[in-house]
This record gives sequence, structure tokens and C-alpha cells, in this order.
Amino acid sequence: MVYEALDFYDIDSQLTEEELMVRDMVRDWVEEEVLPKIEEACSEGVFPDEWRVSLGEMGVLGAPLEGYGCPGLSYTAYGVICRELERGDSGLRSFASVQGSLAMYPIWDFGSEEQKQKYLPKMATGELIGCFGLTEPDYGSNPGDMVTRAEDKGDHYLLNGAKMWITNGTTSDLAVVWAKLEGVIRGFIVETGDEGYSAPEMKGKHSLKASVTSELVFQDCKIPKDRILPGVKGLKGPFSCLNNARFGISWGALGAAQACFHSAKEYALSRIQFDQPIASYQLVQNKLSWMLREITKGQLLALELARKKDNGSWIPEHISLAKMNNVDIALDIARMARDIHGANGILDEYCIMRHMANLESVKTYEGTHDIHNLILGRHITGIQSFTRSL
Ligand SMILES: Cc1cc2nc3c(=O)[nH]c(=O)nc-3n(C[C@H](O)[C@H](O)[C@H](O)COP(=O)(O)OP(=O)(O)OC[C@H]3O[C@@H](n4cnc5c(N)ncnc54)[C@H](O)[C@@H]3O)c2cc1C
Repeated sequence: MVYEALDFYDIDSQLTEEELMVRDMVRDWVEEEVLPKIEEACSEGVFPDEWRVSLGEMGVLGAPLEGYGCPGLSYTAYGVICRELERGDSGLRSFASVQGSLAMYPIWDFGSEEQKQKYLPKMATGELIGCFGLTEPDYGSNPGDMVTRAEDKGDHYLLNGAKMWITNGTTSDLAVVWAKLEGVIRGFIVETGDEGYSAPEMKGKHSLKASVTSELVFQDCKIPKDRILPGVKGLKGPFSCLNNARFGISWGALGAAQACFHSAKEYALSRIQFDQPIASYQLVQNKLSWMLREITKGQLLALELARKKDNGSWIPEHISLAKMNNVDIALDIARMARDIHGANGILDEYCIMRHMANLESVKTYEGTHDIHNLILGRHITGIQSFTRSL
């Protein structure tokens, strides 16, 4: 069945020629190269290497960054790229988000000139892959309490600690790792092959199966002095990266939702029960109408947020709202689409269960739904409610 992306308010008519060109390029690539292989990649638990190569060739890695061989596209274009990638699979969008927003961005914004020259051009082409190590086994929503430590040993730093749930970890050439140096959070670039560093893969996921997830382990890991990111101290470093990645998710989740809507609509029109297509029954139309309504609202939210990112009038709370809302509705739409497909909805012949399982991770990573709610609660009331004394 030919994919028709739901765009009820013709929102894409507001895109520039360049943004439309990028949309069509990524959409065609996902159709031709990703969708035929995604179920196999999931069942084998791998991220196919040719996808890394193609993403580099298409010039979509680090999309909104300028200079150092980066594409220099608008944030709107970056959102559109995320939407089209995640229509294929959230694991694919995760790969691009981590590479661009979580590994390239901190080097681009906080790195030294030498670090930018050394890493960014090759990361833009996909020759070098990066990951982002913030979460620890005991510190997820509250990374400020992290225990990974760096010690200044005169001519080098010594890292000790562990990170968990790190996307692209095992397959990365470098990791941007957040650790405390004399009690202050700093960013460090750790390269594969550095003494005392390993990145074992985490197995057994029922979600984001085509995405590599890993632990990062630092045991007296020795790294040269010039691998600290000089331009940032404290949580501002990782949170700046997360703002950009969360922005991408607010668009990406719509891609997954649109894929589920498309499948549900086609199925409802072709599935006959009680001598009629199930699409002819009012209850089914109500479900489809609700999906259309939520996707359209989510698209308006995402576009307005992208405009704010492009003109600089955004605040982090705008991103929290869009990430939280669009992942939430995408997950509900996936569940409703599964319901419309009846028993067939659980088969890998349809994309539904894969998107649904993926979106469970997307709801949790990059700030859980609850944490984004609390960020908005703090914005409304001026009262911080993240911590409570017992
Ligand atoms: C597939 C996958 C890939 C990931 N990739 C990366 C990556 O590349 N790099 C990286 O650093 N991390 C990554 N993560 C980690 C992710 O960011 C964390 O899982 C997330 O921040 C939540 O942390 P946690 O899982 O420890 O949950 P917890 O923080 O333990 O939260 C558990 C529950 O408690 C709730 N909760 C926590 N605190 C509060 C509070 N104050 N008030 C109310 N409710 C609260 C949460 O909302 C949640 O429902 C990834 C996770 C997954 C699943």
C-alpha cells in the first residue's frame, strides 16, 4: 500500500523548498531501504551498518549544525528528518538523534577548535559514530547525583564509574561522557580503545530492538588532558544537548503515529465484518477521527516549536510540552491502531506493535513523561517539586 502521510491542515505547505527536498529524500530512503529490512533488524537486534553509511551520505547527521562539514539546515528541517526516520522506526531516529544532538552538538558548542576539527567532519559523514553517557544504573531522572568521577592526574584524567542505557554505545568510536571533576559535572570525550574503557551491549530489550543499547564502564580509564570539553560546566552541558534531542523526538513521535494511523485506516477500509468494511462502523470512525485530531494538534505544536527554535524565541519548557504531548498521543494512537487491526495487529506483518513497543522507551528516555510534567509544573507555579524530604 502506498504511504500517504496524514497532513490534514496541509502543514507541509509551510515548509521551504529545501525542507521539502530533505523530507522527500528521507521518506523515499525509508520506504526503499529501511521498511523492507526493519523486521529482520529487530529480530536480530542489530542496527544495519548500511543505514549508518546512507545517513552520512544523505547529509542528515547533525542537521542543524553549521560549519565543520555539518549540513547547516534549519531546525524545522531537522524535525522533518526525525519525523520521516521515525515513521520507519524509533531506533533509526534514535541513532540520528544521538549522533547529531547528543554527541556532535556538545563538541560543536562546547568543544575546543581542535576537537571540532578532529571529530565533527567525520561524524557528519557517519565515518565516526558517537554516543552520550549521562544515565547511570542508580541515577536516571536525577543525573545531578551521578557518581562517575574524573581525577586530574597532572598529564591526564582518570575516569571511574559506569553509565547505563547508552544508545550506540558498543558501536561508537567515541563517547561524550559526563562525570564529576572536583564535584563539578564536566564533559569528556572517551575514544574506543582508551585504556580502562569498555562498552558491553545490553541484551533482552522488547523495545527499540534495532537500536544498540550499552553500558559504558570506566575502570581507571586514562584519557589525555585535551579531551575535556572546555566550554561548559554543570548540568547545563548535558541539558543543552537533551533540549535538541527532545525537540527531535517531538517531531519523530508524529512519524510513528502517522505510520500507525495509515495502517489502521487502510486496514479498516479493507477488513470486512458483518458484511461491511469495519471503516463503515461509527465506533471505528470515531477512533480514526480521534487519531486524526491528535496527530493534527501534535503537528501544529511541532511546527510552532520548530519556528521558535529557528528564530530563537523558545524556552526549554516549550520543548517539554511538545515532547511529552507528542509521545503520549503517539503511544495512544499505536494502541488504538492495534485495536482496529484486531488479532492481526500483533503480527510483525504490520508496523503497529513495533512502534508501540518502541514508543514505551521514547516515553521514558530524554526525560520521562513525569519529569516533563514536573518541569511544566515548576514553570506554572514557580515551585520545584522534583525532590521531597521524607
Ligand atoms: C532504550 C533506551 C535508550 C537510552 N539511551 C540513553 C542514552 O543514549 N544516554 C543516556 O544517558 N541515557 C539513555 N537512556 C536512559 C534514559 O534517559 C533514562 O532511562 C531516563 O532518564 C529515566 O531514568 P530511569 O530509567 O533510571 O528511571 P527513574 O529515574 O528511576 O524513574 C522511574 C520512574 O519514576 C518516576 N520518577 C522519577 N523521579 C520522579 C519524581 N521526582 N517525581 C515523580 N516521578 C518520578 C519516573 O517518571 C519513572 O516513571 C536510554 C533509555 C532507554 C530505555
